[in-house]
Amino acid sequence: MSGQAYDSNNIFGKILRGEIPCHRVYEDADTLAFMDVMPQSPGHLLVIPKTPSRNVLDADPAVLSKLMPIVQKLAKAAKDAFEADGITITQFNEPAAGQTVFHLHFHIVPRYEGAALKPHSGQMEDNGVLAANAEKIIGELGA
Ligand code: AMP
Repeated sequence: MSGQAYDSNNIFGKILRGEIPCHRVYEDADTLAFMDVMPQSPGHLLVIPKTPSRNVLDADPAVLSKLMPIVQKLAKAAKDAFEADGITITQFNEPAAGQTVFHLHFHIVPRYEGAALKPHSGQMEDNGVLAANAEKIIGELGA
C-alpha cells in the first residue's frame, strides 16, 4: 500500500473506542455518525466506518459500499430535519486536500440558498446546541 499507515490514536478512533464522547445520531454494526463539533452549518454531521482506514485512498471497497447508503440516508434526514435547500457532502484525503483527522469520514452539511459556509474546523459549537441538533436528526430518522 502506498502512503501512510492508519494510526488508531486519532480522535475518531478514540470516539469509536468510547474514550471520548460524541453526539451520536446513528450507529450500526459497521458505521457511526455524530455531530461535527465545529459545524460549518447547523446540522453538520460526520459519518465514519468502524473499520479503520485513513481515508478513501486506503479504504476497502467493501467498507465503502456499506458506508455510502448510510451517507445517503443521513443526508436525506439532515436535509429534512434542518429544512435545508441542499446538502454538501465532502471528504478530504491527506493534508494537502484539507484532511485533519486521519480516520475516513464523510461530512454532511445542510446548505441554504445564498448562505456561505462557516470555515472548515472553525469555531467550537455549544454542547447543548449539538445535542439538540443530534436529536433533530434522530427524530427525522425515526419519522
Ligand atoms: P477533516 O478536515 O475532513 O479531517 O475534518 C475533521 C472534522 O472533524 C472537522 O470538521 C472538525 O470540526 C471535526 N472534529 C474534530 N474533532 C472532533 C470531535 N471530537 N468530535 C466531532 N467532530 C470533530
